[in-house]
Amino acid sequence: MFTKSFDTPNPIPQKAIDNAVALMKHGMLYRYGHVDDVPESDNDLPSDASEVSKLEQVFCDYTGHQYAVAVNSCGSAMFIALKAMGIKQGDNVLTNAFTFTAVPSSIVHAGGVPVYVECTRQYVVDLQSLSAQIEANPDIEYFILSHMRGHVAELDKIKTLCDKNNIRLIEDCAHGLGKRWNTDNHGNKEGVVGHHCEIACYSSQSHKMLNSGEGGFIATNDDQLAAYCILAAGSYEQLYKKHLARPADDQLFEAIKFQVPNFSLRMNNLIAAVLRPQVALIDERIASYKDKYERIIEILSVSAKLDIPAPVEGTENVGDSLQFTLLGFDQAKKERFIAKAAARGVVIQIFGTLENARDFRNWKYSFEEVPAMHNTAEIISYTCDLRLPLTFTLEDIEQIGAIILDSL
Ligand SMILES: *Cc1c(COP(=O)(O)O)cnc(C)c1O
Repeated sequence: MFTKSFDTPNPIPQKAIDNAVALMKHGMLYRYGHVDDVPESDNDLPSDASEVSKLEQVFCDYTGHQYAVAVNSCGSAMFIALKAMGIKQGDNVLTNAFTFTAVPSSIVHAGGVPVYVECTRQYVVDLQSLSAQIEANPDIEYFILSHMRGHVAELDKIKTLCDKNNIRLIEDCAHGLGKRWNTDNHGNKEGVVGHHCEIACYSSQSHKMLNSGEGGFIATNDDQLAAYCILAAGSYEQLYKKHLARPADDQLFEAIKFQVPNFSLRMNNLIAAVLRPQVALIDERIASYKDKYERIIEILSVSAKLDIPAPVEGTENVGDSLQFTLLGFDQAKKERFIAKAAARGVVIQIFGTLENARDFRNWKYSFEEVPAMHNTAEIISYTCDLRLPLTFTLEDIEQIGAIILDSL
């Protein structure tokens, strides 16, 4: 029997707790307010900057983007990204058929209509399906590409296809923080996912790399888009001047500030205090995930009853969860397997089920007729999701692996 919880979030470092307590004692939790005596200081950053502004700068330093805006969720980040690109009511937006419901929801929130793209056996967007959808929707201007569960698609090819068809790319990096694209570029910021698009969106919800319960980031190198996103997130009057990770030219803001709605999606200082010390831990966390991820694959690979697809060439799959697809199972056999593993404390979820928020057939708010995504439907019906929390040890992994093999 395995007794640890599969739902354990990444720990909040002591520094973050101390920062948060200092802020609460002071009371200035609003992102444009600033507190003098926060214990976690950073000599490279101006001492009169707010926690959120400092976090945005530290975040940019990590991802290699010029500008970042902290918001209350990744869903909000994607919504603002589409608004910044000028989406109009009823516009079509390409996105993955296999992703989390927050992605099509952000499209609907922005007034758009999702156009789904099939996924491959590697759980990434299918280029043939993408080409077919572009052909069927020649006016389509936007694509939110989701790196679902950290599986990275053929980014160079996708970008080429988008450029050729005047499609503006947004990357959903909710699971992409720190993910490498071209592994030859390891350690090189160019190799970090989130640089093929005009805007990359990140999440710090509790099940992601950075944990603040809720939170998100918009990252871009584009001056105009950055100015729009800063204003839309909730910067009014001259508050944009308080941002560190912003374009320097005030004119960019002054020129549009009365045209941009304030959507009040700001992150607050308390969340930023919890996050800032975690940014320095990202690479350490990736290394910890990597050991366990590789070990569980090694253990499960001996079974012919499941497929753990290799990552797309040039990418690596290292994550806080493992996906594998059951081979030669029918509905009843699949249910027996899940129940057997659960009875011994190993929690596995199937993506394609009645309740699952990652099954496109459940996104009824986004279509009148269920889209014909036959390959995706087939794949998610037999694809398992196994969380591998940071706090698990290699011994835990051995035990989980043995229970899964037994249950198969
Ligand atoms: C979690 C998640 C999101 C949404 O993040 P929130 O911050 O909860 O809005 C978007 N896309 C994917 C793939 C996710 O897993």
